[in-house]
Amino acid sequence: MSKYTKEIEKRRTFAIISHPDAGKTTLTEKFLLYGGAINLAGSVKGKATARHAVSDWMEIEKERGISVTSSVLQFHYDGYCINILDTPGHQDFSEDTYRTLMAADSAVMVIDGSKGVEAQTRKLFKVCVMRHIPIFTFINKMDRDANDTFDLLDEIEKELGIATCPINWPIGSGKKFRGVFDRNTRKILTFSDTQKGTKEGVIEEIDIDDPHADEVMDPEQKEQLMEEIELLDGASAEFSQEEVSKGQLTPVFFGSALTNFGVETFLEHFLKMTTSPLPRTADCGPIDPMSDDFSAFVFKIQANMNKAHRDRIAFMRICSGKFDATREVYHVQGDKKMRLLQPQQMMAESRHVVDEAYAGDIIGVFDPGIFSIGDTICAPGKKFAFEGIPTFAPEHFARVRQIDTMKRKQFVKGINQIAQEGAIQIFQEFNTGMEEIIVGVVGVLQFDVLKYRLENEYNVDIRLEPLPYEHIRWIANKEAVKVDKIVGTSDMKRVTDLKGNPLLLFINAWSVGMVEDRNPDLVLTEFSK
Ligand code: GDP
Repeated sequence: MSKYTKEIEKRRTFAIISHPDAGKTTLTEKFLLYGGAINLAGSVKGKATARHAVSDWMEIEKERGISVTSSVLQFHYDGYCINILDTPGHQDFSEDTYRTLMAADSAVMVIDGSKGVEAQTRKLFKVCVMRHIPIFTFINKMDRDANDTFDLLDEIEKELGIATCPINWPIGSGKKFRGVFDRNTRKILTFSDTQKGTKEGVIEEIDIDDPHADEVMDPEQKEQLMEEIELLDGASAEFSQEEVSKGQLTPVFFGSALTNFGVETFLEHFLKMTTSPLPRTADCGPIDPMSDDFSAFVFKIQANMNKAHRDRIAFMRICSGKFDATREVYHVQGDKKMRLLQPQQMMAESRHVVDEAYAGDIIGVFDPGIFSIGDTICAPGKKFAFEGIPTFAPEHFARVRQIDTMKRKQFVKGINQIAQEGAIQIFQEFNTGMEEIIVGVVGVLQFDVLKYRLENEYNVDIRLEPLPYEHIRWIANKEAVKVDKIVGTSDMKRVTDLKGNPLLLFINAWSVGMVEDRNPDLVLTEFSK
């Protein structure tokens, strides 16, 4: 028990992931509405009126209509203090999503009921399952014709390899959507498509055995519902909080974010089924969130969020204790005591300076270029490092050519900064210095982001020449091998990463095995920590 326990226990920190257009922004808005953080949903964003979401900061996001980076929002509801981490809606940015998930204690997955699990987000969702945190599924847009409910669940189970447990069950969809049946209370929440924006929808709660229930749905629908429920009770996984906590079972909810239906009941169940911040693993063992001592790690760095300032912000997840802006902290990797500069929290487009924050919260601090992703910040006198955030192996490579060679300095600065943020990875040819830069990405859209940002933020035009490499290996025992002595294959290329680690690039998968065979002392890995 610490003096901060009460505050920390109120915290719920989750990431929200979805396919573009599945309704993540709308759902987030409705959450904020319940929290009283905004008055009327839609004031945050309305695509029709060309206004943009709270979380869609960067120009490129506005142009493309996809989220490239993640942002953070905090609001209060029913005694809880909730932090929502928004994530990019395209699998090409799944690495960014993974980093954000590292800062979250659970995830909410929004699925469009008429589309199911979509190809472009399959990887994104899988990344979520990889993190082994509780995942909650909200199947949205039930006011539109949706796929068969069993098919939707089947798809989630097959595609993502996670068991599903519907907490409620939809009665019809589209024009025939009547509401949801709560399997636990056996009550129907009735849907009425009236309020588009205000929080007081007229939702009735009727017991399934109440004759009034028959007025809500026609006999055919009721029969179908009863059949489906029977089938479900026999076939579906039983609810198990333990499995939910381990990320092996996802509770599923149905609703319609736009008409504000099913959102509050989702939020209420969700808050009960998730936990307050849990201990985090560091090199000295688990760090108790309730500890009196402050600790945090950097999970995201973002430059130029505000064009007027050209600033760079490091986002930290507080893992234990309380952050107090008047106190010094210790940056472990930099081995330096310091005051965190301009600590702030985000609420929609406005940021405000914070004086204090608790385990579970996310703060952004001004970064003069000293922080890296994964860095640990703790109380002076302590020294430990939280588990690192893995770097994904890039799957696409290109050589970067600068069009105007006079702008070398800006180019080098820009590409390095963008790489430090983790938006791309850069490599240099082994032993040749900065002359040739190779960019590696997990998803090809990251190339577009790089080009766009170099033009817009650094005023540098580049040309990207695709390279045929598809496989990358870090050298795990780099101290023990001489890189230029490695017996390679004709398609192998030696490069170094931003931190100076040697790596090998290959065009063919079988070359990797061949190089391992030819160099028995060489240990290759697919991930770098
Ligand atoms: P995001 O890309 O996942 O953030 O999706 P948005 O929240 O921006 O929603 C995409 C579009 O779907 C918008 O036009 C929304 O108004 C619409 N939408 C969101 N939720 C619902 C819903 O429950 N029903 C219907 N019919 N439309 C919805």
